Amino acid sequence: MGDVLAARAVKAEADKGSEPFTFERSKQYHKAACEVIAGGVNSNVRLGQQPLCFASASGSKLVDLDGNEYIDYALGMGPTILGHAPPALIEAVGRSLAEGQLFAGQHSSELELARLLQQCIPSADLVRIGVTGSEMVQAALRVARAFTGRPGFIKFEGQYHGWFDNVLINHAGAAADPALGLPFPVKMQTPGQSHPAEADTFILPWNDADAVATFLEAHGDKVAALITEPMMCNSGGILPRPGYLEALRALCDKHGVVLIFDEVITGFRLGLAGAQGRFGVRPDLSTFAKAFGGGFPVAAIAGRRDIMELFANGVNHSGTYNCNLVSIAAGIATLEELKRDGGSVYDRIESTGTRLMEGIAAIASQHGVNLKVSGFGSVFHTQFTDEAEVCDYASFARGDAKRQKSFIDGLLLQGIRPTGRGTWFVSAAHDQADVDRTLAAVDAVLAAGVDAEPA
Ligand code: PLP
Repeated sequence: MGDVLAARAVKAEADKGSEPFTFERSKQYHKAACEVIAGGVNSNVRLGQQPLCFASASGSKLVDLDGNEYIDYALGMGPTILGHAPPALIEAVGRSLAEGQLFAGQHSSELELARLLQQCIPSADLVRIGVTGSEMVQAALRVARAFTGRPGFIKFEGQYHGWFDNVLINHAGAAADPALGLPFPVKMQTPGQSHPAEADTFILPWNDADAVATFLEAHGDKVAALITEPMMCNSGGILPRPGYLEALRALCDKHGVVLIFDEVITGFRLGLAGAQGRFGVRPDLSTFAKAFGGGFPVAAIAGRRDIMELFANGVNHSGTYNCNLVSIAAGIATLEELKRDGGSVYDRIESTGTRLMEGIAAIASQHGVNLKVSGFGSVFHTQFTDEAEVCDYASFARGDAKRQKSFIDGLLLQGIRPTGRGTWFVSAAHDQADVDRTLAAVDAVLAAGVDAEPA
C-alpha cells in the first residue's frame, strides 16, 4: 500500500476520531504467505486486492490481524447471507461432526436437504448436490449436451460461471466491438486454457433478445444450452430488461435449447425461490451454491425430470466430497433459517439494502458525482459511470475503474468493505447502525474526493 493510502488513512482517522487503520500484521502475513503459497492467496480472485488477513468475524463485522474492524459487505463473495458465525448454523454443523464426516454412501439427511431444495426452487423436479458452483455449471452443460446431442452452448459476455476452461471466456477485459458480428470472437482469460473449449462456446451480448434470436435462427442446431446469470451480478448489478428472460425462455423452447439459469449468486439471495421465483421465469436447469450453504461449501443442480434423469442413466456427475455431513448440515440449517416465518428474513435484508442503496445514491447526488447504484437490496453494485443505461457488459465496461478503486480503497480505511469490484452483499445480520455508519463513510470518502491516483 502506498503513500496515498497512508495519507488517506490519517484523514480517515481524523474523520472518525479513532485509531488509524494500519495493516502491518496483514503485510507481514502476506510476505510470509508468498514464500509458501503462490501469490500468497488461494484463489486468483483475491490477487491484486489489499493483502488483508482476517482474524475473526461475527454478525456483520470482520476483524483483521491488525485489529481493524470492518462492516462486511463482501460476505465471502456472497455466501454468508445469515451473517458471520450465526449460532443456528454453527450449532447444526457442530452437531453433525459427532456423526462422522463422509461415508462414500448415503446419509438420511441428504434426502431432507433435497426435499428442502425441491420445496424452494420452482423448477426442481429432481436435484443433485455437490460442493462448488463451478462443478454444478459443468454438470449442467454436460447433461444438456447429452440431452440434446448437440455440442455447443451460448454464454454471455461479462458473465462468470466459474474458473473451468470452457466458461472462463469473455468474462473480463475490453468489451467486444459489435461490428465484429455475432457470436463475438472468443476471448480466453488465462494462459494454459484448453483451446478446444473455444470451438463450442458462442459469446453473445446480454439483454439483447434479438441477438439470441438471430444467432439461434442460423446456428440453433449446434446449440445444446444457453447459460445465463438471470441478473448480471458479476459485472455490475444489471437487471434483465422487462420481457428479456421470457424471450430467452421462448427462444430456447423454439429451438430445443436447454435454458440454464446460473443462480450461484442469485439463488437463496433474491428470495427463497431465487431469481426464477423473483422474475417468474422457469429454466430447464439451474445451479446453486453460495447463499445455499451460508458460508459452508455446498452446491446443487436442479431441474426438469427428463433431463436430470440422465444422471441416473449414463451421464457422469461425481465427487468424493458430495454430501459430506458438514455441507448437508449447513445447507439444511441455512434453508431452515431462511424459510422461518414465511421467509420474513428476506424483507429485512431487502429493506436494509434498499436503505443503503437509496442513501448512497442520495449522498452521491449531493456531492455531484456520477456514482450509480443498481440491483436489489440484497445484492447491488456501485459504479462511477456516465452511461444513461448500464444494460450489458459493453456499457458496464465503460465505467470509471480508477474512481471505483479509489472509492473502494477509501471505504476500506473507514472500516467498510464491499467487494473490490463494487458489489455489495447484504446479510440478515446488517442493521440500521451498520447502514448509518456506512453512509457516513460514503459521505466522508466522497467529500475527500475519489480522483486521487490509486495506490
Ligand atoms: N457461477 C456464478 C454466477 C458465480 O458467481 C460463481 C462464483 O463466483 C460461480 C458460478 C463459480 O462458483 P464457485 O466459486 O463456487 O466454483
